[in-house]
Amino acid sequence: MTLIEIKNLTVEYKTKRGILGTPEIIHAVNNLSLDIKKGEILAVAGESGCGKSTLAKAIMLLEPACKGEIIFEGENVLQMKNPELKAFRKKVQMIFQNPYASLNPKMKIFDTLAEPLKINTDFTNDEIKKIVVDTACKVGLDEECLNLYPHEFSGGQRQRIAIARALVLSPEFILADEPVSALDVSIQAQIINLLQGLKDDYDLTFLFISHDLSVIKYLSDRVAIMYLGEIVELGKTDEIFFTPAHPYTKALLSSVPQITKTGEEKIILEGDLPSPSDLPKGCKFHTRCPYCMPVCREKMPDKTQITDTHYVKCFLYNS
Ligand code: SF4
Repeated sequence: MTLIEIKNLTVEYKTKRGILGTPEIIHAVNNLSLDIKKGEILAVAGESGCGKSTLAKAIMLLEPACKGEIIFEGENVLQMKNPELKAFRKKVQMIFQNPYASLNPKMKIFDTLAEPLKINTDFTNDEIKKIVVDTACKVGLDEECLNLYPHEFSGGQRQRIAIARALVLSPEFILADEPVSALDVSIQAQIINLLQGLKDDYDLTFLFISHDLSVIKYLSDRVAIMYLGEIVELGKTDEIFFTPAHPYTKALLSSVPQITKTGEEKIILEGDLPSPSDLPKGCKFHTRCPYCMPVCREKMPDKTQITDTHYVKCFLYNS
């Protein structure tokens, strides 16, 4: 069952470039469509600057969408008004990369966790206290921690607090934007295992954004590969890791020796990601693709289904 369906979502920013202040448009998310099934962990992978975080923020309504629809449980979020909007905000929560920046340094942890409940619910103080203590316990924090301030914790503990804050309202859907990339490797494993356990305990659905393919391989059910604001390949995790189709996906996998099989074709990415203010015509990957053909510079490839669950956008697969 689909929990959230994104249709033709486009997010653009107007900025000014250089000392002359020349106006330019940043095309962060381009006509992107994606559905996320209830109970799954859908990972979005791609280089920094490919639009992953903007996508998450647009779903959270932290960035305005220019076009498209975000359908959550059958309703278009972009047209919601209160009280539906308030209900949506309770059901959808976000975990950010930097837990310290996402916590108020002047608030004790108890108040940080209680605040969303005070704003969004009619629970009594006793009920709020019980939920806060129970949630802290679920993420591995002692009750004594609740009287401390964020600076008194390690990075891993702060991320546990940020996860608890996302959980107190019993959400259905969590957007996790690089939730472990700021943590030490040993702590990353603990947080990943925690998220996996919480998914089952709270019956959660995740959009998991990461540039770390090893984490994605371990944690996710499906993987979407994003390049310059578009999904260029999507499939079950095994399909993406064992039978990747798009040259960009192969290049990303080639950059992680631990998950590349011996003898497998390797593609080394040349050059940087083009500026999202100056998108290449045709296939956006053509400026870096070793298989580029004349048609790739002129036309955008359509979606080609490889299996029922795996598609790619590349002319190598267009019949
Ligand atoms: Fe490369 Fe062409 Fe495929 Fe784009 S469509 S990935 S340029 S082969």
